[in-house]
Amino acid sequence: MAPDERLEALREHLVDVLNVNEQLQEQLDSAHQRRERLTDKVDRIERENETLKSSSLYIATAEELLEDGVVVKQHGNNQEVLTEVSPGIRSGLEAGDRVAINDSFAVQTILDPETDARAQAMQVDASPDVSYDDIGGLEEQIQEVRETVEQPLINAAQFREVGIEPPSGVLLHGPPGTGKTMLAKAVANETDATFIKMAGSELVQKFIGEGARLVRDLFELASENEPAVIFIDEIDAIASKRTESKTSGDAEVQRTMMQLLSEMDGFEDRGEIRIIAATNRFDMLDRAILRPGRFDRLIEVPKPDWDGRERILDIHTTDMNLADDVELATLAQDTEGFSGAELASLATEAGMFAIRDERAEVRMEDFEDALEKVKENEDAPGTPIAFA
Ligand code: ATP
Repeated sequence: MAPDERLEALREHLVDVLNVNEQLQEQLDSAHQRRERLTDKVDRIERENETLKSSSLYIATAEELLEDGVVVKQHGNNQEVLTEVSPGIRSGLEAGDRVAINDSFAVQTILDPETDARAQAMQVDASPDVSYDDIGGLEEQIQEVRETVEQPLINAAQFREVGIEPPSGVLLHGPPGTGKTMLAKAVANETDATFIKMAGSELVQKFIGEGARLVRDLFELASENEPAVIFIDEIDAIASKRTESKTSGDAEVQRTMMQLLSEMDGFEDRGEIRIIAATNRFDMLDRAILRPGRFDRLIEVPKPDWDGRERILDIHTTDMNLADDVELATLAQDTEGFSGAELASLATEAGMFAIRDERAEVRMEDFEDALEKVKENEDAPGTPIAFA
């Protein structure tokens, strides 16, 4: 081939190569643009994902499953809405489930069933370790609790034969720290019953919107664990006198109490379940709760008298290494007005004084120091002495 022709061929080739290069460059450019768009998209989705993950969801109960959605009732304000639910969630959803909903009420997830709320609100003890002997100065009260709670549990047949209904509920009332919880635990222990405790105040504060349901759960849990003793502490929180105000909080408390009353009214067929309630605020209670068939036995649990105080001190010092000079009778004399809980912490505090002094034996002087500290502490009532 002549050099001219070769040169021409090479030129043409160069033009082709340049063309190809240009095309490739264009492709590269569009790939770059595409990558940018995709990166933007990923960023946006990531942000959305973050907001979705971090935005709070409301808790609601799925009330009813319909063809075209689900009726949910939001906790707290009890607002009911018909809402959408994705097929994935729908398949696992049952009426009564707790769900999390977003701002537009769409169901996001199904929450674990009651168990967690139950576990938080109720304390279940299959065999509490308190016996009647651990309770000082409450002989009459123990006697009465045994007649009204223990007998119907262990002698149900006899009650049926005689043809009388045992009282369904017993109400213990008296100042704080006088042994009301202990009494309820002791009955459960002596009758081999499960002890289930629920605190009224917690129910009202923590489980807004769920109070009535938790009361229902409480009774259900008890019947799953028969024989059982239900102990409702601070019942005044859910059963105080109706007030004039009509705030939603009040309505909620009312509903919780109505549920409690209806559970108690439908009680006969419940079998071996007894209810003990406790309050420091007897004056506050709604009288509806004290009607026959409900809490119709009232037992006052007062602060201990002289004998009671000596007995309680005795109980709380049995495991302590006491010096011979310790006179519990004198201490009982000096602790007029003390509750059982205060006497228990007096003993602990005396032990702390001995430890501070590097002694293994607790002397009368330790109790005296402890007493002094308690008296100083009187300005700040409610603080457990041992931690003051
Ligand atoms: P609250 O009304 O504050 O719930 P409570 O009346 O239920 O109080 P308990 O919880 O039974 O009181 O008592 C608290 C602690 O005080 C007990 O764990 C126990 O150590 C001590 N205590 C109270 N009363 C007595 C008592 N009568 N005999 C022996 N110990 C007692």
